[in-house]
Amino acid sequence: MSIISKDIAKAVALLSAENVVAIPTETVYGLAGNIYSEKAIRTIFETKQRPFFNPLIVHIASTSCLDKIVAHIPKKAKLLAEAFWPGPITLVLKKKAVIPDVITAGKDTVAVRIPNHPVILELLNQLEFPLAAPSANPFNSISPTTAIHVETYFKDKIKMVLDGGPCKSGIESTIIGFENDEPIIYRLGSTSIEAIENVVGKVEIKNKKEIAPDAPGMLERHYAPTTKTILSDNIEDSILPYKNKRVGIITFKSSIINDTVEFQIALSKSGDLTEAASKLYNALHQLDALNLDIIIAEKFPDYGLGKSINDRLNRATKN
Ligand code: AMP
Ligand code: MG
Repeated sequence: MSIISKDIAKAVALLSAENVVAIPTETVYGLAGNIYSEKAIRTIFETKQRPFFNPLIVHIASTSCLDKIVAHIPKKAKLLAEAFWPGPITLVLKKKAVIPDVITAGKDTVAVRIPNHPVILELLNQLEFPLAAPSANPFNSISPTTAIHVETYFKDKIKMVLDGGPCKSGIESTIIGFENDEPIIYRLGSTSIEAIENVVGKVEIKNKKEIAPDAPGMLERHYAPTTKTILSDNIEDSILPYKNKRVGIITFKSSIINDTVEFQIALSKSGDLTEAASKLYNALHQLDALNLDIIIAEKFPDYGLGKSINDRLNRATKN
């Protein structure tokens, strides 16, 4: 029997009994548990085979929950929360003692956001506790953007996937930490740097070596298909060495006319980066299931969500 269900009451019952449930958000599906249940949190790590040094994001229903879990909110964090919540931006803030160390990998900070999806907001409103949830995929593999992706990964290892349809944003939240109360981007994501800078002015992006393993989104290989994947400035040239191989292509807008190409996906024919981001992981899932010899992805424009798409594609190409 399928573990996919739209039954919110069932998810409430399972989560309240310290089980984990896969939940929809606007970014990707998460594997969620009660933040106060050590049993549930450990099950999340075990199910994903995620190393314990990788902390989880806490999902809350409203800003009124924030004071219970964080000790200090910098002014620019407040501005960002007001501008983008509910939405795909995660703030890393000084934590209060109630947040168990297993969630934060022993750090004195906790990552928190209000997701923008009616199903998880309804679920959070019915629960008496926030939910810790990393993406609902085995460690390092492509994040799930549909309930079926999650079911394919975990089958009978979890009791339920709460179905909320395909994720609208489709890549993970942008993660922002604070140093001396100034915002720093730890992970690019579904909220563009330009949108963030419109609210708080210039922000620094820390490269992975400076903060790893603060954010596993910063690990070199992450979000990766099992098929060898390369990122290309010029698809036609990159195809040449693969004449007798089975090739899959991901482009931004245009199609490629070339006999070598077995399967191709243009992420947004109209050239809309938001649409492209929302379809990226589904395209990788689709191509990865075809047993191709190689996936060649086109480099995206280096602005807006194009930057975040390039970030994910870059990590998908690491061996
Ligand atoms: P995932 O939901 O699988 O993308 O993982 C959650 C992301 O949030 C990871 O990249 C974590 O490292 C990041 N994160 C969670 N808590 C913290 C924290 N206290 N400091 C820095 N990054 C964090
Ligand atoms: Mg993840």
